[in-house]
Order: sequence, then structure tokens, then C-alpha cells
Amino acid sequence: MKALNDSYDVVVVGAGPAGSMASYNASKNGAKTLLIEKSQEIGTPVRCAEAVPRLEDFGINPDPSFVKSYIRGGYLIAPNGKKIVVKGGKTDGYVVERKVFDKFLAIRSGQAGTQIAVKSRVTKIEKTDDGYNVFVNYLGDEYIVKSKIVIAADGVESNIAEYAGLKTKKNPKEICSCAEYEMTNVKLLNNEMMEFYFGDICPKGYIWLFPKGDTVNVGIGVIDSKKRAIDYLDEFLTHPLVEGRLDNAVPVEFKVGGDPVGGPIKKTVADNIMVVGDAAGHVSPLTGGGIGLSMDCGLMAGDVAAQSIRAENYSEEFLDLYEKKWKEKYYKLLMNDLKYKNILQKLSDDELNAIANSIPENLEEVDVGKLAIKIVAKAPSLLRHFKELL
Ligand SMILES: Cc1cc2nc3c(=O)[nH]c(=O)nc-3n(C[C@H](O)[C@H](O)[C@H](O)COP(=O)(O)OP(=O)(O)OC[C@H]3O[C@@H](n4cnc5c(N)ncnc54)[C@H](O)[C@@H]3O)c2cc1C
Repeated sequence: MKALNDSYDVVVVGAGPAGSMASYNASKNGAKTLLIEKSQEIGTPVRCAEAVPRLEDFGINPDPSFVKSYIRGGYLIAPNGKKIVVKGGKTDGYVVERKVFDKFLAIRSGQAGTQIAVKSRVTKIEKTDDGYNVFVNYLGDEYIVKSKIVIAADGVESNIAEYAGLKTKKNPKEICSCAEYEMTNVKLLNNEMMEFYFGDICPKGYIWLFPKGDTVNVGIGVIDSKKRAIDYLDEFLTHPLVEGRLDNAVPVEFKVGGDPVGGPIKKTVADNIMVVGDAAGHVSPLTGGGIGLSMDCGLMAGDVAAQSIRAENYSEEFLDLYEKKWKEKYYKLLMNDLKYKNILQKLSDDELNAIANSIPENLEEVDVGKLAIKIVAKAPSLLRHFKELL
């Protein structure tokens, strides 16, 4: 087993989708890159409902080794059972086996030239004149490696960039508590459609059923709730909204995790360091989806890291190019989703039912701004929630 070198151009902390894509692009563009992952097996433990956008848009072939289901859209289901069908466009995608998918992304990065250290935890980083000393517990031994650039892709519990003064710690009230059973013998409404349930059954969040080949991910995310996420989930399994469809369901896996839905952190770069993925709040506050964003922002971080190595300029001013790139593409979307989430969290079951009754039953996309006009026209009492969107 190859030991760690003394120095690298780029050290990436965390081999989730953000870290594997960042290290892939850094290596592909010529930077000597090390990817460090604390788990002994990349992709585990899984804390995810495993829905990903069209992988072809990332130049990735949707290989059957990790693609478990094709997704063509979803049902948004109101407390009264009214279904809104959203189909086509951005709703196309896949449900993957993340244990395999995350490892696939890491393998792809390794094949581009990245050195990978698994079962290796970064314990701290320390600024030097020309970069960072990265302290790593590598397979039980302590190492210090030098790096010109560190990319913190260490997920929702991120603390690595805090050593550089970047504020990555999340407010617990903005972390969605999630619980999920992967179950077999579930009768879905449609094997290519996701199901989303809203209302008092899942305070300030939603319940999802995602098709995954022979199984279904049945999960919940709640915020600031009186009971634990799993208690709400267990109640849902016998709820009239899914009457009879989960009676014979058998769990084959149970997952828990926190999803940061408070929006992006203020600053994602400083001298010699960038932050990406969940660590940076690259997650839709409305849906909790972060895989596609993490992958894309990871590519941007890796690209800018390689450019900075070529230019021999690792300053915050240079790395700011990364922040500009991701903000240009995603900032408005993330901030709009934050606004929509804040509205959704305030709606009562009656109001959710009124909304479902006032919008078309079939949608090509969810354009909340346009829908708000229809909603308020049919249910004027909801104006107080939607007025800032009109
Ligand atoms: C229950 C649940 C369901 C979800 N469902 C979906 C979904 O269906 N679709 C979707 O798009 N998103 C979903 N998400 C969000 C999605 O999982 C994340 O947005 C995505 O994984 C972020 O990728 P990442 O690479 O930033 O972080 P992660 O995937 O969390 O990877 C971070 C990695 O860093 C490692 N690490 C952390 N600290 C260190 C350290 N000090 N040293 C070394 N390694 C370290 C961790 O072990 C981990 O492997 C869900 C989240 C939850 C909690």
C-alpha cells in the first residue's frame, strides 16, 4: 500500500459526490491530488434517498451497476389525498445505489490520477506560508501532509474549513432530521414516479417514496418536531393515504441523517481553501436534494484548483473565481428555494388542500412564482403567504 507523499497540490477532504468530482477535475487538469475519506468504504454509511438528476449531463453513463430505477416525475400529494403530477424536464433522473455510485465516482477520480486514502480522517489543518499542513490519521498512523490548496468536501457536519475561519457549522434548526426505511413489497402508484406527502404528518418537511428497483426508499424529513422522525415515519406506514400499499412492506435497510436546508454559507473561499457540497450548503432548501449540486460545484472547485496551481496563485482573490462560478449558476435558485421552503413550513393542512385544489393537476415544472398567481386568484386568503412572490 502506497504511503502518503509529503506534499500535494490539492488535498480534498471527504469522498462524497462533491469531493470525488472536485478531485477528478483537479487531477484531470494536471494537479497532484489526494482525496481523503474517513470511512473504510467509500459510499457508506448511506444517508440518502438516492435520487439523482440526469447523469448524462455530467458526462456519466447511467450504468446498471448503480442505476436502480428511472424516474420520470413525481406526485405531490396533499393531506386530503389530491395528487398533482409533475412530469418531464428537470424531474427526469435516476434512483441509484449510493454505496456503488459514490464508489464509482471515486474510482473515476482515481483513474484520472487522484491518490485516495480511505479509513483516513483529517483531524485538523494548519495554515503555513504557502498553503496548509493537513493532519491525517491514515489507517491508524498520524501523518502531516503539505498542500497548496485544501478543498473541504466534508459534508453536513463539516468542520475542516472552520480552521480557515470560514463559517460552515450549521444551525441545528436548519438541519432536517431524516429517517428512512428501504423496503420491499411496497405498492407504488407508478414504478417510475416519486411520491411526496406534505402536512401535519411530517412537520415542516415531507415524506417520500422513491422507487429503487426491487425496493422503495420510504423516508421522512422533519424540522423542529415534537416527535422523532422515525415516530412520524412509523405512523405513516399505516396511514389512510397509503392504505393497503405498505401492508406487506419489509425493511431491508434503515438510514438516518441530517440534511442542511438553511441555504448556502456566506463565504466558500479563503487563501488556499475552498468549501463545496453539503459543507457549503449546496443543497436545495426546498427539496433537500444536494447530489447534483454537490457534483457540479465539485467540478467547479476542482477546475479552479487546477487553474490556481498552473497560475501559482492560491490566494482568496484567485479562488474567488470558484465562488463566482457557483453563485452565478445556483445562488438565485438556492435563495428562491429557501423562500419557498419558509412559506411551505407555515402552511396548515387546510391551506395545502386549498393550494392543491387551485393549481393544475398536471405540471411540466414547478414554477412557484407562476403558481402563486393561480393560487391567490382561487384562494385569496392565502395571499398573506404568497404576497412576496407576486
Ligand atoms: C436522509 C437523506 C436523504 C437525502 N436524499 C437525497 C436525494 O434523494 N437526492 C439528493 O440529491 N440529495 C439527497 N440528500 C442530500 C445528499 O445526500 C447530500 O446533499 C450529498 O450527499 C452531499 O454530498 P457531499 O459530497 O457534499 O457530502 P457527503 O456525501 O456527506 O460526503 C462527505 C464525506 O466526507 C467524509 N468526511 C467528513 N469529515 C471527514 C474528515 N474529517 N476526514 C475525512 N473524511 C471526512 C464523510 O465520511 C463523507 O464520506 C439526502 C440527505 C439525507 C440526509
